[in-house]
Formats: sequence, structure tokens, C-alpha cells
Amino acid sequence: MTPEQLQEGILHGNAAVQRRAMAKAITLLESTRSDHRTLADGLLTALLPYTGKALRLGISGVPGVGKSTFIETLGMQLTAQGHRVAVLAIDPSSTVSGGSILGDKTRMEHLSVNPNAYIRPSPSSGTLGGVAEKTREAMLVCEAAGYDVVIVETVGVGQSEIAVHGMTDMYCVLQLPNAGDDLQAIKKGVMERADLVVINKADIDPHAATRAEAQITSSLRLLGMHGNPDNASHNEQLWQPKVLQMSALKGEGVERFWQMVQRFQMLQTRNGRLKQRREQQSLAWMWERIDAGLKQAFKQHPKVQALLPDIQADVVAGRLPASTAARQLLNAQMDG
Ligand code: GDP
Repeated sequence: MTPEQLQEGILHGNAAVQRRAMAKAITLLESTRSDHRTLADGLLTALLPYTGKALRLGISGVPGVGKSTFIETLGMQLTAQGHRVAVLAIDPSSTVSGGSILGDKTRMEHLSVNPNAYIRPSPSSGTLGGVAEKTREAMLVCEAAGYDVVIVETVGVGQSEIAVHGMTDMYCVLQLPNAGDDLQAIKKGVMERADLVVINKADIDPHAATRAEAQITSSLRLLGMHGNPDNASHNEQLWQPKVLQMSALKGEGVERFWQMVQRFQMLQTRNGRLKQRREQQSLAWMWERIDAGLKQAFKQHPKVQALLPDIQADVVAGRLPASTAARQLLNAQMDG
């Protein structure tokens, strides 16, 4: 298919044509070939006016916390209500091993065959920044195809969560009931970004879940006071991070989750934060990709390549300060 045909299929194709066009478009933008990249850039630019209308929901949590169970239940409820739901994933392990523990279609048995759902596994290779970029672009393809809820899922605690936070409107962290006892879980940087913390598997140990809810609520309040000034505010017009108990397996709390999401969306639209967040995200992405592109070009520069082995050896051996080494390499590149 040409990019024009892909565009036509994504925007106006019937269900089967659209699905095929989406898959082909996403494969095209995941390609590392530079001619494919040029085509993908053209396609994305053409699709851009049709994007941005979905709610972008980020979901993270350790393996086994219940992400796929939750997304399956939520996705089935939303599609039954007439929504079209796309599920994308950023799997940090794929950048290391090329394997994939996330986004596997078999994880969401019913949703994966639902005609109003589209599930795409994580791009399977590249740096985390590259994988995140592809996922963000895939999100735009889904939006252009009329999906009005896009869920971006990731695993663990770390850079991939920051990437998901950086491309979604609302960022939700799933926790286990005993996580409140574990200070690691309240680690600044992850919790501080959460708009909503979900304590899943509350059915297993309701007492622990209630204790976790209290602990996380007070931690969020503390983070709010010291961190983001928005969170500390008691202004009714601003969203305060919330904590919610759930049993994804039993479907308990899923409806309440969606009510909270809708309230978040309404508030953040009304107070202008949603628009502001997306504007900041777009610019941050642009600079992130510039940084990555510059670094790659730098590493490929012939003079840098010629000097690098010796300079690195000098730094490792303690003969050259790291900052001096960096300056020498930068100067070598700038000199041509
Ligand atoms: P993921 O790795 O985060 O996607 O976790 P999964 O959704 O695959 O869930 C891991 C296991 O926990 C599965 O066996 C689920 O059936 C189970 N599970 C998920 N949510 C709940 C829950 O709310 N309660 C209970 N008891 N088990 C759950």
C-alpha cells in the first residue's frame, strides 16, 4: 500500500481495511530504513489533523499486578458502551533482549478479538527512547482511525514509566495491597507523577488494601506539599491525585475507576491543564528526539569515531578527566 492508500484506509476504510492499514502504517513507522522513515513522516503529518481527540491513559505496574486483567475488563466495559479502545505497550525488556513480556495479544483474550479494540504489542527493538517514539506515533495512528480511548501500558518502575507519563493525559499506577509497606513503591518520581493510584487485588487481603490506601494517600499528600504545587492546592478546579481499591479479577472498582477518569478529563479540560500538558509533551518529545538524533550523529562522525577508543581508554584509566574528554570530542566534531 502507498502512504496515500494507508491514509485513506485509516481514515475511511471499513473495519477490515482500516485494521490492515493501521497495522501496515505502524509497521512502516517502526521500520529503521530511512526511505520508510520518510514515508512514515509524510503519513503522520497527513494524519495529524485527525489526531488528538482520544483520551490517552497511561497504566503502569510491576509484572503480575494485574494490568492485563484490568485492561481487559475495562476495555470490554468501554467497548460495550460504544467506545473504541486501543491498547499499546512499551516493554522495556524488549529494548534489551528483543523479547516481549508485555502487549502479547494472548494476554487479553476477549479484548484481542473485540472488533472495537485494537491491541498492538511493544515495538520489539531499539533504545527506550526509540521504542517510546514509535509508540507515541502508533497512538496518533489509532486516534486518526477514530479510537477514542488509547491505553499505553508499561511495566515496572523507571524510565519506561516516565516515557508513558510523557505521552498520556492521565497516568495511573497499579499497586499490590502490600505495596504500602514497601517504601520503594512510594519512590519519588513514579508516585509523584501518578494522577491515580490503583490498589489492585484488594479481594485477596482487604485489610492490607485499606492500609495501603491510607499510606499511599498520605504519601501523595506529602509529595504534593513538597513537589508539584498543583497537587498541594485545595483549589476545586484542580485535580488532586487519588487512590482507589480494585479487584480487576472480580471487576470491582473498574466502574469507579472510569468515573474518576471522566472527572479528571472534565476538570483538566475545563481548567486548561489537558491542553497545556499536551503542548508541553509535544515540545518535550521534539527536544528528546533532537537530543537522540544529535547524539547518534555525533557518534557516527568520522573524527569522533577515530578519537573515541583512545579517549575512552584514557578516561577509564584515569589519565583524562571525563569532562575534558567530552570537550575534546565535541571540539573534534565541530571542527568538521
Ligand atoms: P500483569 O502482568 O500486570 O498484566 O498481570 P495479569 O493481569 O497477568 O495478572 C497476574 C495474575 O493476577 C493473574 O493470574 C490474574 O488472574 C491475577 N489477578 C489480576 N487481578 C487480580 C485481582 O484483582 N484479584 C486477584 N485475586 N487476582 C488478580
